Amino acid sequence: MTDMRIAIVGGGPGGLVLARVLHRHGIAATVLEADPSPTARPQGGSLDLHPESGQRALREAGLERQFRAVARPEGQDLRILDPTGAVLVEHTSADDMARPEVERTGLRDLLLDSLPAGTVVWGHRLDRADTRPDGTPRLTFADGTTAGCDVLVGADGAWSRVRPLLTDAVPQPSGKIGIDLGAVAADHPAADLVGRGSLWVIGDGVVLSGQRAADGTVRVHLSLRADRDGPDPTAGWSSTVTALADAAEGPVVRRSHAVLPVGLTWAPQPCVTLLGDAAHLMPSVGEGANQAMLDALELGLAIAAHRTDPDAAIRRYEQEMFARTAPIAARCAAVESMMLGPTAAADMTRFFAGGPVGS
Ligand SMILES: Cc1cc2nc3c(=O)[nH]c(=O)nc-3n(C[C@H](O)[C@H](O)[C@H](O)COP(=O)(O)OP(=O)(O)OC[C@H]3O[C@@H](n4cnc5c(N)ncnc54)[C@H](O)[C@@H]3O)c2cc1C
Repeated sequence: MTDMRIAIVGGGPGGLVLARVLHRHGIAATVLEADPSPTARPQGGSLDLHPESGQRALREAGLERQFRAVARPEGQDLRILDPTGAVLVEHTSADDMARPEVERTGLRDLLLDSLPAGTVVWGHRLDRADTRPDGTPRLTFADGTTAGCDVLVGADGAWSRVRPLLTDAVPQPSGKIGIDLGAVAADHPAADLVGRGSLWVIGDGVVLSGQRAADGTVRVHLSLRADRDGPDPTAGWSSTVTALADAAEGPVVRRSHAVLPVGLTWAPQPCVTLLGDAAHLMPSVGEGANQAMLDALELGLAIAAHRTDPDAAIRRYEQEMFARTAPIAARCAAVESMMLGPTAAADMTRFFAGGPVGS
């Protein structure tokens, strides 16, 4: 691989939006992605994109029409039950574009389709990044090959291999464990519990959730406070609600969630920066992809405005990104701890009724 001017490591929502924004401004970039192909692994459940962040990034990237074609406004419906099956919250959306859901695969496809052929180089897992004698970045890939670039952007997610160039910070366990239980077929009676959008069954330190996918199937997930981890976290719950977990089929995938310190910053370095989870991994309560896409928009616009001075672009972007994301990460931590707290059901009911929570 010859030297690249702008190398973006990671083809998630953040990396692809950055490549698209740069392309719209006539600036070429290369995305180096570890996955061997776009279809190599399932991309996971859907995301809700917010008007001021994820949707704004797509709009300013010239992709609003394509987004509307795959967005699912009805996915905003939310039903919350307690472990007996009693309905605590029944929120039916107005089918508007406030926070529509989009399948991760649909989002990735529309971004890939918006890029010139060859922008994404698949099967390139970065092993490490360091600095060449002239101060520019050198990339070493898992297969032993190396490449250089003028500007390096780490959009490589939670376990970023670019991050060590800027900070010693590493993600630490958040205390939450997530277990994907698989999917329930669209025509299975247990799927009816979920409606058009999402279902949460909230116990003490345990949340069983179901999310309707675009193809009608329901993805089922269990979130646990670490001290509730055990052989049967939903023991004693009504069979009305546990039927959803029992009906789920597919690979069970378990992960310990990790987060970066809230308000993480670093001193600006020439030629290198981070965006998205690589920069500010936060609890997964609906902001991570949105902020990654807004980072990408802000960085792309800054590079376009400082074409001959990428370091000035990086400084401007990082100042804005640090200030914007620190309070959001703090809020996400508070929401996650509320959702897994001992009074979560009452707190969430008050939250959706517009009242104070945490009392
Ligand atoms: C269960 C769950 C639900 C979530 N729900 C939401 C939600 O509703 N709304 C929301 O906004 N956020 C949500 N999030 C968070 C969201 O998924 C992330 O914040 C978002 O994907 C971050 O985007 P990114 O582009 O920074 O990184 P990623 O999406 O992690 O993309 C990183 C990319 O880099 C590639 N990569 C990784 N390492 C390397 C390497 N060494 N070399 C080359 N490539 C590499 C990966 O293959 C991947 O394609 C959720 C997260 C989880 C776990």
